[in-house]
Amino acid sequence: MSYQHQYVDGTRIHFPVGKVVCIGRNYAEHAKELNNPVPTEPLLFIKPGSCIVPLEGGFKIPTERGSVHYEAEIAVLLGKPLSARPTAQEVLDAISGYAPALDLTLRDVQAKLKEKGLPWEIAKCFDGACVLPPFVTSDQFADTTDIGIRLSINGQVRQDGNSNLMLNPIVPIIQYMAGCFSLQAGDVILTGTPAGVGPLNVGDALVLELPGVSQFSGEVR
Ligand code: ZN
Repeated sequence: MSYQHQYVDGTRIHFPVGKVVCIGRNYAEHAKELNNPVPTEPLLFIKPGSCIVPLEGGFKIPTERGSVHYEAEIAVLLGKPLSARPTAQEVLDAISGYAPALDLTLRDVQAKLKEKGLPWEIAKCFDGACVLPPFVTSDQFADTTDIGIRLSINGQVRQDGNSNLMLNPIVPIIQYMAGCFSLQAGDVILTGTPAGVGPLNVGDALVLELPGVSQFSGEVR
């Protein structure tokens, strides 16, 4: 199923599907659960737009490459380009929407790459490695430092976080990213995952939420 950005009311968003810029270890409790040190500088990586799939209708995971871990994350859609250390206000003006996303990781593959000090692309960029439901418009959140994110699997809450727990809050992290490379309309920022990551299995029924604002369900096929 091909992916195009859209709002929850079904409106298609005309921006192209850009890159997905991610931050690793942005919640201290999650860094701890994987025995990773809490980074002193933001740890960035990029997924290509080609790996994005919609949540609606379910999604497939690789089944022969070791464990596939879910990471529920607040996704930010950019509607304007940003570069060269934008101001906080410029970042806020560029945000078009928010969605609860899944950053999927081939965890066993990633562990081997990490051991060897190699880049993570093979573990992070496979087709379907970013699952995105529709966005709510940015005016749904007056305060970017108080946005919840929750994932339930088969009726059990597995991850329940809030942007107030981020080591690098949403606006400063986007300023930092735009200081490293240009961001464009249609790019998506994944803001890191709270504690509680774990493996996905075929048949799992997922509910992804920005609690109180949007809620979506889908099944692993
Ligand atoms: Zn992640």
